[in-house]
Order: sequence, then structure tokens, then C-alpha cells
Amino acid sequence: MNVRSQISMVFHLDKCIGCHTCSVACKNVWTDRKGAEYMWWNNVETKPGTGYPTLWEDQEEYQGGWEVSDGKLRLKSTSKKKIVFNIFHNPHMPSIDDYYEPWTYNYEHLFDAPAGDDQPVARPISQITGELVQIESGPNWDDDLGGSPVYAANDPNLEGLSEEQREQLSSVERLVYFYLPRICNHCLNPSCVASCPSGALYKRGQDGIVLVDQNRCRAWRSCIAACPYKKVYYNWFAGKAEKCILCYPRLETGQAPACFHSCVGRIRYLGVLLYDASRIEEVALKKDSELVEAHRSLILDPHDPEVIAAARAAGIDEGVLESARKSPVFKFVKEWKMALPPHIEYRTMPMLFYVPPLSPVISSRVNGLVDFDSTDFFHDIDESRVPVRFLANLLGAGEEREVRYALRKQKAVRWWRRAQTAGDVSQETALRMLEEADCTPEQAEAIYQLTSLCTFEDRFVIPPMHREQVIEQRQSPRQAQSSAGFGFTTGTGRSI
Ligand code: SF4
Ligand code: SF4
Repeated sequence: MNVRSQISMVFHLDKCIGCHTCSVACKNVWTDRKGAEYMWWNNVETKPGTGYPTLWEDQEEYQGGWEVSDGKLRLKSTSKKKIVFNIFHNPHMPSIDDYYEPWTYNYEHLFDAPAGDDQPVARPISQITGELVQIESGPNWDDDLGGSPVYAANDPNLEGLSEEQREQLSSVERLVYFYLPRICNHCLNPSCVASCPSGALYKRGQDGIVLVDQNRCRAWRSCIAACPYKKVYYNWFAGKAEKCILCYPRLETGQAPACFHSCVGRIRYLGVLLYDASRIEEVALKKDSELVEAHRSLILDPHDPEVIAAARAAGIDEGVLESARKSPVFKFVKEWKMALPPHIEYRTMPMLFYVPPLSPVISSRVNGLVDFDSTDFFHDIDESRVPVRFLANLLGAGEEREVRYALRKQKAVRWWRRAQTAGDVSQETALRMLEEADCTPEQAEAIYQLTSLCTFEDRFVIPPMHREQVIEQRQSPRQAQSSAGFGFTTGTGRSI
């Protein structure tokens, strides 16, 4: 067992209101500068929809992430041979049109326009060329129209959905959408790190944050093509790759990341996870259908004396262990199995997780009233407006099992609380539902507390940061050189 620790996040999608405050907070702090205008390290997408950059989930087009070939993990986007041919033109690299051409308005015209009969207007001008532009797309272009046929029809997660299920998403009277906030997943097997010929990307030993060393970056842009989530960006002015840094300067001073701190819906939970780094490759090689469970098995129980001893032996600080025991992320991901990794079939082993939305469900009704005595408590999950299959494509590598489990548990908790408060569900029915959802009353109360009544301190649990450890754990240039390349790496800069 090789115990490492990671700061990780859970997004509770049922709570996201799509206000984009997180995106704006991140923009103001990190990317409001030349060359970074088009970057949204945090963006919020409307699902079903095409996202930002457009159709980022289409790996036929973008060739991001890993594939298993001859029992080995290989980067889809590049290899030692391919990079020579792709050096000046990588056909799978997103272009500015796939993001959008950032613009501002010529506000001065409102003041400087000569007197005339018409009211002056501020026209959009490109932030790259300074020329007038016709706005055709933007980072949230499908905002709130995600469920409409224009955008929903092109969502790659619709694969495998029947005509009826597609209709379910887009018929006007049942139209539905939900929001998907996205930042870098600070993966355990990051394809961005493995693809960099200069060894400029690395995963910090102390907390697992994936960063770009700006001094080493040589603008190869291999990381941009290799990241299947399209969460590395190229700064056209500085000539360097840039990405979400999980606000590590804020974390090191005990403050929450800007996106987290500003989140209006309080959908975000941040905490420590301990994991077994010696099994990452074994897990990444699993079949799609086994990936979610296998990924979860990498996460170690911080209460287990064996894990604690191994963590101490690996030099993990007592403060980190203490935080891991209180981690809200551990509860959602491992203990309750309610939070799932996005597109784990890309095999980068993302370390950010999502609680799937229990979108409007249609209860079984008797004479117009909710049928609380139905024997099939969970039938309406299949009739949910967002088909389970769609969520499974997004959060279950195409397998419905794990998504279904998470949705059943959420529903059972709601009914349990209804039995406690409204009293129109019998205690017996609620208990039976909990049992069928693999949940105890104590766990239901804990889920309810952390979902609905949580304080900032419940949602944000990080260890005291030690800057000196961060500096020590940075690689030497020689180590970085040896980790550059295209093979599987542990994600901490060492090839295995
Ligand atoms: S591969 Fe993972 S760690 Fe790397 S940029 Fe993409 S999401 Fe982040
Ligand atoms: S601030 Fe929170 S609620 Fe608002 S869009 Fe972002 S994640 Fe969702």
C-alpha cells in the first residue's frame, strides 16, 4: 500500500442553480488578463448540451484521455512517434472557434460618438484582434437551452438512448435540464502530465493538485490535446499552458477556492481523500463496467488502523489524517457511494465527483395523490425526466448500476425525512425504502444534514497547510526530465 493524500471536491448537482457566480469569481481572480480572455477554468454547462469547448466529450474528435491497447495504457492523442508529425499541427487540438472568440464592447463610443439623430451603441469587438466581431457563440451559449433540440440533440451522452428517451428530454411540456459546473479534476492518472514532452506538468505530492510549471512549459500544447475534459488552456499572449490551480495560494492560507467560496447554491464540498497510489494502473486498466467501483476501491478508509499506519510511514501529516477522517468528500464518495466521477472511461481517474441530480420525477399517483404505499418505490427513477441512461453515460461509464444506486438513496432519504416531518408517509414505508436503498436511518439523517443543513465548516475541511512540504515535494529538474514522456505515470512525476 502506497498511501497518498489528495484534496478533492464533490458537486451536489441537485443544488446547483446555474448562477455562474463560481465562474465569474474564478475569472476575476485568475483569468482576467491578456491571453486568458477566453479561458474559464471554472465553467458551468447546461445539460443536455454541447458544453465548452463545444462537444468536449466527443473523444472521437478530440482524442483525449487514455486507451487500453495490448493490456497497456496509451495516450490517445500522442506518442513519441506521433508528436514529431503533430508538432506544428495537431488535427485534434481545439481551435479558438471551439471555445469562442472573446469579446468586449467599444464603450468609449457611447461617450465619444459625434452628435447625431441616433442613440450611439457599443458594438462587440474581439479581445484578440481588436476588430468588430459578429458574436456567434460563447462559453455558456446553450445556457438554459440545454434541453432544447438545438443543443440537446448534439450531446454525446445521448448515445444509447431510445427515441422515446430522447423525446423525453426535449418535448416542450417535459423539457428539462440541469447544470454541470466543471473545473480541472486533478486526476490521479492525468493524461495532461503524461503527455508533456518538457515535464512541465506535475501533480503535487502534498495535496494532489495538478499544476503547470510556467518556466518549463515550451508551448507544445500536448496537454491541451491530451486532457479529455479540455481543462488545460493555451495563453496565446504568454505562450504558455495554463489551468485551474484549485486556488492553492488560498488553500495554503486556509481559505476556500474562489469558486467554492462564492458558490451560491452551496453545492460544493471540499475535503481530503487518502488513496492507494500503488493500484492506480491496475484500476485504470479495468473494463468500463468495473471502473467506477474500482476507482472507489482506491480510496482508503482513514479510520482503518492499517491505513493510518501506512499513511504515517509514508510521511503523511497527522493534520491531514485528522482532516481525512472528517472529510465530507469521503462520506459522499466512499461511505455513501452517492458521488460519482465524471467520464471515468477516459481513464484519467478524476478526483472530483458529482452527486447525480434527482431531476423532476413522476410519482405513482392514485386518484391524483402521491401513492406512498406503492410496492415499487423506485419505479419513478426510470421515468425521471433526465433518463438514467443519460446520467450513466456522464457519470457511470455507460453503466446504470452506480447512478441508480445514488438516485435510489437520495429518494429514500427524501421520503424518510417526509415521514419525520410531514407525517404523510408511514414510518414503516420509509424504513422499507431505506432498506431497499441500502441506507440506515442514521445514515439517512447524516446525508440529510450534510446535504441540507450543512455549515461552511461542514463543507470545507482541509488540513493545516505546510508550505515547506510543498517546496520539498517539488521535483528536481532531473526527476522531471525522467518523468516526461508518454507512458503511464503515477501522476506524481515518477514513471512506473
Ligand atoms: S487530465 Fe485531469 S488533471 Fe489534467 S487538466 Fe485534464 S482534468 Fe485536469
Ligand atoms: S456558484 Fe454554485 S450554484 Fe452557482 S453555478 Fe456555480 S456551482 Fe452552481
